Amino acid sequence: METQHAKEILKHIEKYNEIVITMHINPDGDAIGSSLGLASFLQEVLHKSVCIYNESTFPTWLSFLKLPCAYYTNVQEIPFKNPLIITLDAGELKRFGEELITYIQDKKTICIDHHLGNTFFATEYTWADPSMSATGEMIGHIVFAYQEKTLESVAKALYVALSCDTGNFTFGNTNARCINMLAKLVATPIAIAPLREAMDNNWTQQKLHFWGKLFSEVRFSLDNKFAACLVPLSYFNEYGVTKEDLEGFVEQMRKVKNVRMTLLMREDIKENRPIVKVSMRSSGDDDVRSILMNFGGGGHKNAAGATLEGGLENNYQKIYSYVKQVL
Ligand code: AMP
Ligand code: MN
Ligand code: MN
Repeated sequence: METQHAKEILKHIEKYNEIVITMHINPDGDAIGSSLGLASFLQEVLHKSVCIYNESTFPTWLSFLKLPCAYYTNVQEIPFKNPLIITLDAGELKRFGEELITYIQDKKTICIDHHLGNTFFATEYTWADPSMSATGEMIGHIVFAYQEKTLESVAKALYVALSCDTGNFTFGNTNARCINMLAKLVATPIAIAPLREAMDNNWTQQKLHFWGKLFSEVRFSLDNKFAACLVPLSYFNEYGVTKEDLEGFVEQMRKVKNVRMTLLMREDIKENRPIVKVSMRSSGDDDVRSILMNFGGGGHKNAAGATLEGGLENNYQKIYSYVKQVL
């Protein structure tokens, strides 16, 4: 099944010399890892001209992954005339940002994604498979459909993608197919220890103190089945941290016994108006995506996100009213 999709996509790619890779805004480890892995493959193995576009800047916590090509945050900078656009790790156009939506209107597109609810906006081909552990796994299937071995740069990037979206191979999406892909990546070979060092042991002291503050403020409710943390914008200045330093926090709250659902809310400002970036996590049958669909969000059953207008407390109460109905 995946080999068939991979071969179809390779056939489409063959027709283009210039390719733009893009992924959802505020890219996570899977979005970055799958983009960099695909970019290396297209450039170094298939000899295409490639660039990556995202309106968000490259996350510094992933800077140990070397960029194989240019990374643009402004569509005007893309030097290609009529490239193929490959969109990764999201299935709805709005997740790629306004500028990209306008830019791709007259262009050919392919979408590769593992979220539920793909809207099939791509003009040439859509491979949407929610059973995939990560978009990085899907890129792995493409790369290995082309040839049995791959480059170290490709394998490293895809390892990061898989590791990030599976909670380092612990979440429910860690199936045999995912582990088989992991084995192929490790056999490339890649050295795991330095990668883990770069991914796990790179905190600033500020981040440690920031997490300490947040841990002390976690709100438990609904018989301790629900844990939530609200992060005011002022904390970032106060603690000398950035929003990147929140990466992984929403998973930490699930470590508490009996907690079934967690919620992280980060205050921000967009066009002079307050907004809140929401992340929710759960396991098993507890469906956080359905809750955040009520707020225009989406994602996976056990990991979902949304962006809401307004302040923290007000939005917390709104989300809480839905959580209360299911827990
Ligand atoms: P996050 O909590 O931001 O790490 O996101 C968890 C999952 O939900 C990821 O797969 C995201 O791609 C997805 N997601 C996050 N925000 C949104 C949104 N506003 N709309 C749809 N999906 C989202
Ligand atoms: Mn993602
Ligand atoms: Mn993903």
